[in-house]
Amino acid sequence: MARQISGGRKFLYYLGSLMMFIGLLSFLYTFVGFFMAFGDSNGVEAGFGAFKYAVFGMVLLVLGGIIRGVGAMGLAGSGVVLDPERAREEIEPFSRMAGGVVKDVLDEADINLSGRSGAERSGGSDEPVVMVRCQSCRKLNEEDSKFCQECGDQI
Ligand SMILES: [Zn+2]
Repeated sequence: MARQISGGRKFLYYLGSLMMFIGLLSFLYTFVGFFMAFGDSNGVEAGFGAFKYAVFGMVLLVLGGIIRGVGAMGLAGSGVVLDPERAREEIEPFSRMAGGVVKDVLDEADINLSGRSGAERSGGSDEPVVMVRCQSCRKLNEEDSKFCQECGDQI
């Protein structure tokens, strides 16, 4: 089972990113040139001539995006090869990494998905979260808890 993203896939990821960057530059540059060419009447022709660079930029963007995706998720993971079992294995290290990033962001923002503050807002789950109020100290506790988290009294 592939636990690490291989060097080849990392290379593909960076190669794809680079292609997307160059494609974006080419695309934007062409558009700036295209609209500036409208300023003078002779330039319109040249503006349309430059349009093929915009197409080139777009192709580079799309290709770069695909290569980047293959690098990140693997051939099966990005849907190039239809193989669900392999896809799961190939996506695993990436989704673990992405999950780690999301968790870091949530930690940063002080959002706790499993904690009580999240549970009280029902955390976006389908099931409403039921809390039980302690009779002694009025503290809200999880529905299935037997003893109060605050004072330890039986609920
Ligand atoms: Zn209590």
